[in-house]
Amino acid sequence: METILFVTSTEADGTLNRHALEALGTAVDTAVSLPGSPLVVGLFGEKIEAAANSIANCGAVRFLGVEGAEFTQARYATDAAALEMLCRASKATLVIAPATSRMARVIAGVSHRLNGRIDTHVNAIATSNDQVAITRWFYRQRMFSELTRTQRPWLLSVDSGCHTAYQGESQNVDIELLPIVLGSDHLRTKVAGFKAPSADQQTIRPDADLLFVTGAGWTKKQKDGQTHPKEAEQLILGFLRETKASLGGSKSLVDMSGEGEQVLQFMSHLNQVGQTGATPRHPKGLSTCCHGEEPHVVGWRFIRERRAVNLDPNCGWARGKADVLYVADAFEVVAKVNALLAEKHSTVNA
Ligand SMILES: Cc1cc2nc3c(=O)[nH]c(=O)nc-3n(C[C@H](O)[C@H](O)[C@H](O)COP(=O)(O)OP(=O)(O)OC[C@H]3O[C@@H](n4cnc5c(N)ncnc54)[C@H](O)[C@@H]3O)c2cc1C
Repeated sequence: METILFVTSTEADGTLNRHALEALGTAVDTAVSLPGSPLVVGLFGEKIEAAANSIANCGAVRFLGVEGAEFTQARYATDAAALEMLCRASKATLVIAPATSRMARVIAGVSHRLNGRIDTHVNAIATSNDQVAITRWFYRQRMFSELTRTQRPWLLSVDSGCHTAYQGESQNVDIELLPIVLGSDHLRTKVAGFKAPSADQQTIRPDADLLFVTGAGWTKKQKDGQTHPKEAEQLILGFLRETKASLGGSKSLVDMSGEGEQVLQFMSHLNQVGQTGATPRHPKGLSTCCHGEEPHVVGWRFIRERRAVNLDPNCGWARGKADVLYVADAFEVVAKVNALLAEKHSTVNA
């Protein structure tokens, strides 16, 4: 039997983000599969009432909270203090949190304070005969292992895209607000604010439904014997603007951009998908001008529906790596798709 604490910070608008609701989904399933193991919710933030009410029917026996202006923004000292207090007050043996950047920053430190154990990048939690086991991937998502631990509390930070988000009716709940005393030590770090690129400059969008991958073909000589980097840039940015897709790139392309060549300057190594890049979790993927070699495609492991546009009918995508391969010129295809989308959006907005 365990006492399961689902714990997270709230968003600036007092809600819970999708990643938090996915981790809650994991916590609810874990509690259901371990009869007699109560689920407790712990929230911290400037205001937590709306978030708590939105998950009122998740089956939690207690809703604990730490609230106040000091918890509006991420700051190690205050976030760790809140998290530690919630863990102690709940007497949790199993702590489940989303691996948001805010939670990931503090959860290992809190585990140390509690003399617990922490596992990060958890993909799934399974139970059998009252035993809890977690799954996580290693070696660039090529191998996975199942782990159990006897030490408690056991803190788990759960990756996004691994569980369906919890959904339930809203209702008012009684929140036990924990009285936290903050000293000057906690508030020494002043949070001056956020600096984030505008939505259009931000090309990596983990929550997007579509991953749009661009390969080195965009920079290669085309049928007129010339390269067309400006046109490529406009087509790619136009597609992202119309679809709000997340932008991925092959290693060849991001290497060229990183070396300062006059091609696709908005790409960086952060966009790279593959063995030495990222393994994103979008439901759909569209590859353009990318050959689809194994070290690249290994990063598509979690993309469920895959399509590619390539001039070469024998490219890697044709060898069982894509559901649909369009043997076509990506410059022409993307120009046409952008025009159709722009027309559709102008009709909708008219
Ligand atoms: C240890 C190791 C790790 C690696 N890790 C990664 C990794 O993490 N990610 C990664 O991406 N790669 C990785 N690579 C490199 C990988 O093997 C390939 O070299 C790379 O993915 C090739 O990139 P590309 O397909 O964009 O370029 P290319 O191989 O140059 O392919 C360009 C493609 O564009 C097509 N094309 C050209 N013009 C058009 C057009 N107008 N319309 C349609 N198609 C067109 C061509 O037919 C061609 O197929 C790794 C390699 C090694 C050895």
